[in-house]
Amino acid sequence: MANTPRLLLWTIALCLVSAATVSACAAARRVVHSSDSVHERSEAVAQAIDRGPARSVILLIGDGMGDSEITIARNYQVGAAGRLALDTLPFTGEYTTYTLQETNPALPEYVADSAGAGTAWATGHKTSNNRVSVDAGSNRPLTTLLELSQKKGLRTGNITTAELTDATPAVLDAHVNHRSCEGPADMAKCPAFKKGAGGLGSIAEQTIDHHVDVLLGGGRSRFDQEIDGGPYAGLTVLQSALAQNYRLVEDAARLADVQPGGKVLGLFAAGNMTAEWTGKPAQRYPGSGPQRCVEGNRPQREPSLAAMTRKAIELLDRDDGSAGWMGTQPPGFFLQVEGAAIDKHDHAADPCGQIGETVAFDAAVRVALDYATTHPDTLVLVTADHGHTSQIIPPPDHQDHSPGMFSTLITADRANMTVNYATNLPDHMQTHTGTQIRIAAQGPQAANVLGVTDQTALFSLIARALDLDTH
Ligand code: MG
Ligand code: ZN
Repeated sequence: MANTPRLLLWTIALCLVSAATVSACAAARRVVHSSDSVHERSEAVAQAIDRGPARSVILLIGDGMGDSEITIARNYQVGAAGRLALDTLPFTGEYTTYTLQETNPALPEYVADSAGAGTAWATGHKTSNNRVSVDAGSNRPLTTLLELSQKKGLRTGNITTAELTDATPAVLDAHVNHRSCEGPADMAKCPAFKKGAGGLGSIAEQTIDHHVDVLLGGGRSRFDQEIDGGPYAGLTVLQSALAQNYRLVEDAARLADVQPGGKVLGLFAAGNMTAEWTGKPAQRYPGSGPQRCVEGNRPQREPSLAAMTRKAIELLDRDDGSAGWMGTQPPGFFLQVEGAAIDKHDHAADPCGQIGETVAFDAAVRVALDYATTHPDTLVLVTADHGHTSQIIPPPDHQDHSPGMFSTLITADRANMTVNYATNLPDHMQTHTGTQIRIAAQGPQAANVLGVTDQTALFSLIARALDLDTH
């Protein structure tokens, strides 16, 4: 009897690692599911509380990854009683994500976009939608976690499956009044920020000017645009990056070969990186499916988010076993990892695209948790920026069905799951939603995510854990 839980844990571990046969894993899940609920966990929770400082922080953001998106991916990939890597962090809370109205910042905007939401954790200040780390109703720059980390001497990384100039990465290394101002030729909505007007420049320019140690993602076309002012006028943003000692990497094989030492700019696609999975998009009644998704859609020359995360950690981690300056511990790093396209496929009512990106994000979470196993002074945080459209609904019939679009997926349980998209008219772009969302954490000061907090509290949590000077 005493051996049974250990055996089950091993079975679960094997299921998680190898995605072995569905039936064997489903059987193990059923038993462990019931044993989970009989264990008294107070002592384990108490032991997981770590009040100490963090050497490094890995912040993993699933764009648009609300509880519904997590549940859909879990049901599909490991079954209803299974657990994803992102389900295994010891502390979980919920946070509110509202932003501010642009025309009256005294009032809340209940549905956030990625720029407003990201500014909250990047700076500790709420702003209005579309703004990138500047105040609502003004262009006052707000200091970011990445800037504070650099000031403290930490290394920094920012990686995404979207363009590096998309809103979520941008909130850390740019200040601009509109998220659309991604390259020097995209400045129609941000005339005061143009370098030619004496401003900070586009998001691409500011990203390079911030000397972030590791930048990996898509968006090459923004970096091919020409700078219109300042010391690099006449060069493209990419040429200015090379002039500022970045090493350019353009495919997965080259990325694998990059060695630590010096800054790295990985640009793996002209725009967004390619989705991992494809399948039939949702449709009006009777919906699409039942379907299993088609995997393996990402070309080999593009690295996965997990591969980018593994390499970023390798490049950022100075802990090579040698003692640091004056015998102290070597400084750590602050790394943000974004699974960007969960959101984009949710907008497009494309359940397979959405689930594939969530599963790929989960693989990146596992890379971070594996690193934390050997580096327990790492605070790992897994959260999202805002809620999104997709919902699990009952099987449709002729009498009762959603007025929107839906698709039926065949899950790892070998059961049907109907996923609904109805935040806008069918065949229109689906929208974000204003729900509170999950924040999960492991490591030093992770217990601070417990309860219901606000997205701005994530800034204070990270700043405190890394002992950043916020004054
Ligand atoms: Mg994003
Ligand atoms: Zn979106």
